[in-house]
Amino acid sequence: MAYDTLVVVYFPSPSCSAFWPALKSELERSETRKLLTGSVRWITQDEFQKGLESKRGYEILLRGDCTMAAPSTNQKQPRGPLGWVLLVEDRIQPFVYVDCDRVRQMLYRDLRDKTTAERRRLLARAVSRIIVHEMTHIVTQSSRHGASGLEKARVSSSDLLAYTTD
Ligand SMILES: [Zn+2]
Repeated sequence: MAYDTLVVVYFPSPSCSAFWPALKSELERSETRKLLTGSVRWITQDEFQKGLESKRGYEILLRGDCTMAAPSTNQKQPRGPLGWVLLVEDRIQPFVYVDCDRVRQMLYRDLRDKTTAERRRLLARAVSRIIVHEMTHIVTQSSRHGASGLEKARVSSSDLLAYTTD
């Protein structure tokens, strides 16, 4: 099978794969539909197989604990970025890094009273929005940030969880 775009998601541990169905469904209906043209396939590193071809490829590298088995007890504001990309020789590389521990910390208040399934859904929404933000840098090859919405340099928990998108 050939796709225009193939995105491979790397989880830090096998137990994080429980997070994948929620994340995949958020990614498939995210703003990436405007960003990535043509057919897009989202897979995990385990689903990658020979013969899977695409014109363009991106890799998403998640860090930290995305199992959401237990609520976060860390109430401190995260230090360091939630997501980032790498600039090598003036090119923004097609790799997106997201730190799930920092995202969980940032969403502590929103996650603490929820069930595992709810926490997973909220984390999935937040992580997919960080991925949209970072993929925008890659696709546009620009490190500029907008004044509002997901393209701000610093997003708030409501930016990451808001239901409406425009
Ligand atoms: Zn940015």
